Amino acid sequence: MGGLRIRKAVNMFRCKKWLRTATTDCDVEYNGTVIHAVNVPAKLCPECGEVTVPDIIRERVLQYASDRGRTAIDYAECENEEAAGGQALL
Ligand SMILES: [Zn+2]
Repeated sequence: MGGLRIRKAVNMFRCKKWLRTATTDCDVEYNGTVIHAVNVPAKLCPECGEVTVPDIIRERVLQYASDRGRTAIDYAECENEEAAGGQALL
């Protein structure tokens, strides 16, 4: 039991057009813990208005949350911190 379990939108393959990007709030479950993230990059379908968060982004949400030991994160803020940390190493 346990392990990585990512909820996917039921109809994520219904539309093929992904013309816009957007930011959204997103919950990702990991080992029974729900990580709540805000300012998450997402794809917005112009046909049905559905917002989908790519799996790679959900995985990064888990990474950011576990790095910080938190169950709620601001994705944009974490990404800025990662970028700043990367520059500091150079
Ligand atoms: Zn759609």
